[in-house]
Amino acid sequence: MAVRRAAVAAASAAALSLSLLATSCSAGGASPAADSKAQPPPKKAVATGSGGAVSSVNPYASRAGLDVLRKGGNAVDAAVATAAALGVVEPYSAGVGGGGYMVYYDAKAKKVRTIDGRETAPATMRSDSFLDRSTGKPLPSDEVINSGLSVGVPGTPATWDKALKNWGTVPLAKALRPATRIADDGFVVNDEFRAQTAMNEKRFRDFKSTTDLFLPKGELPVVGSRFRNPDLARTYRQLAREGVKALYRGGIGRDVVRTVQRPPMASGADHKARPGLMKRGDLAAYRAVHREPTRANYRGMDVYSMGPSSAGGTTVGEALNILENFHLSKADKAQALHHYLEASRISFADRNRWVGDPKFSDVPTEQLLSKDFAKDRACLIRSDKALKSPLAPGDPRHPGADCDRRTGNKEPHEGPSTTHLVTADRWGNVVSYTLTIEQTGGSAITVPKRGFLLNNELTDFDFAPLTKGTPDPNLPGPGKRPRSSMSPTIVLRDGKPMIAVGSPGGATIITTVLQTLVNRLDLGMSLPAAVAAPRISQRNQTATEAEPGFLSSPERKKLDALGHEFVLAPKTFTPAPEIGAVAALEFLPHGKISAVAEPERRGGGSAMVLKESR
Ligand code: GLU
Repeated sequence: MAVRRAAVAAASAAALSLSLLATSCSAGGASPAADSKAQPPPKKAVATGSGGAVSSVNPYASRAGLDVLRKGGNAVDAAVATAAALGVVEPYSAGVGGGGYMVYYDAKAKKVRTIDGRETAPATMRSDSFLDRSTGKPLPSDEVINSGLSVGVPGTPATWDKALKNWGTVPLAKALRPATRIADDGFVVNDEFRAQTAMNEKRFRDFKSTTDLFLPKGELPVVGSRFRNPDLARTYRQLAREGVKALYRGGIGRDVVRTVQRPPMASGADHKARPGLMKRGDLAAYRAVHREPTRANYRGMDVYSMGPSSAGGTTVGEALNILENFHLSKADKAQALHHYLEASRISFADRNRWVGDPKFSDVPTEQLLSKDFAKDRACLIRSDKALKSPLAPGDPRHPGADCDRRTGNKEPHEGPSTTHLVTADRWGNVVSYTLTIEQTGGSAITVPKRGFLLNNELTDFDFAPLTKGTPDPNLPGPGKRPRSSMSPTIVLRDGKPMIAVGSPGGATIITTVLQTLVNRLDLGMSLPAAVAAPRISQRNQTATEAEPGFLSSPERKKLDALGHEFVLAPKTFTPAPEIGAVAALEFLPHGKISAVAEPERRGGGSAMVLKESR
């Protein structure tokens, strides 16, 4: 997002110290009484086998996808089922009220295809919609974050619909079944869910519908209790019965628009949230869009990812193209990491200048991904000295090896929301899908009686031009999609899937995907090791954000000596600061798949395969 998120560490620590109060609730929420000893399902970070695979951040969600595969569904069916389940068990990261990007490898056609299901701005949004009318200055960030004004038209249901109709084998009604069951039966509250609720508690309390759902009886959900969401189960049933027109042209949509226009304040709220601009016509006009994937050939492998409106594919791709100009190896890990940081720094300078919604500006996608441009930009990198940020962008339309070291703009900070999943089936189809409601907890506004939060994705627009006199492709506009960093990626080797990978984490999504690829492809790590390794994230900022594990590593000292500056990554809802949360697959010889999730970040993810090898 383009504005700083609220500090969360103190809130979550305070909340975790609250007593474990037993509550019960018939309309929804957590009811621990009968389940006070309940444990969440076991989680595994690595599973190897055949027949199909799913990896996500949550075991309920991975299991929902696996059930669909077991019943003969394909990777797309499983991806929708997993995503819908994430809407239940990770409701602060993703759901019906948000958007995302799906990248799909179609085994029969041997082609990579994508869907852009990004939220869009309403038709009445203008480039100055986030400016204060009287001062001309950007509106205070929390007035936009927690408001109807930042809610984009949701794209997630349209993505599911389009994916299933084009590439799936089951109807939406069937793909939603496992998630509906989880919403009805409830899931066992874990530390992460409670901590995420705690970090949002203050702003959730401002909205009646959100308090009712996520703070049952006014309290934080208790770890070990069962959290039910019958409103969401009903919403899923309605989508199953009526199709996604229930949102884009029907009753769910009417409720969304009413909520956006008149956010349901709680009686104790000390302010009124700004109303949004969304109308029913905006919902009716929404389309999930097929786009060409981005492709970067990296040392003989084809790295496919998401093109604009996301900056994920162009930025990961440009950085890889830059890195291809250097020899990276585990023999000198510090030099490899130095080059990774520099390539990321440079490609972020270019991302901000050039990438936005392609419907509104001429995004030079091909040129950003050209080897000539990468060669130009690689010229900036010295092996003995770190570059100084912020760097100015290059001009991919006129590559000319000018080694331009001018200073550019400061980068905005972005946090760890969103979620990523990967699926594969027995026919060789693969899905890499990242979805979000923007920040953790989205706009904090739940649609009353519908069981889901609305996104605040429009905060990903630049509220005002980044530089006076330079075009900014990411200003708000009518029907426009804010620039994203989501980077669902599929790597092909010799034309066949090798790796599927992606992550949440705002702009750190890009560096997380990039570092995982460098770890795996250049440093020779196994995929689980590549995922587990401590992360560092350089996004054209003075200091590089780092996880604690890196700060105590021998490479850190060597990079310090080159002039790199490190700061601890911002703390979120987990005990230690973290960057990203990868879900990935690697395709091994003889039809084997290795499904990989985080071993520790976000409490550990969940990797599953249909037939596990011993
Ligand atoms: N809004 C972010 C993006 O599209 C994702 C949210 C996040 O992960 O912070 O890049």
